[in-house]
Amino acid sequence: MPRDSKVVIHGDEWKRADIQEAVTYCRHQTWHEASWTRRDALVERSGTIREYIGQAYDPTKFKLVRRGWSHDHCEICWWRLCEEEGEQHSVGYTDGRDWICSECYHQFIELGEGQQDI
Ligand SMILES: [Zn+2]
Repeated sequence: MPRDSKVVIHGDEWKRADIQEAVTYCRHQTWHEASWTRRDALVERSGTIREYIGQAYDPTKFKLVRRGWSHDHCEICWWRLCEEEGEQHSVGYTDGRDWICSECYHQFIELGEGQQDI
């Protein structure tokens, strides 16, 4: 497969070379299908948001916002995963930390016939 060949994800054309690294990384992870749900977040005074996973934080600098983590992006195509925009956005695959969209999973990660050779 030539490196400058194209692939279509969510109707957009991508150069294979541009997603190759992410796909290679993702193929080494173990993914399971899951519904994306909001998670808790720590919001800094500057506006920076980080996910709250139970870590210690300084309450004078951060505010804990329940369900404040509003979305993630697909590791491969940057598709938005969130609760609000229908199944294409609300169902994806996670390795427990990162997320990929269903389309990338089926197109690049899932083993079997028709898997795109990147
Ligand atoms: Zn994707």
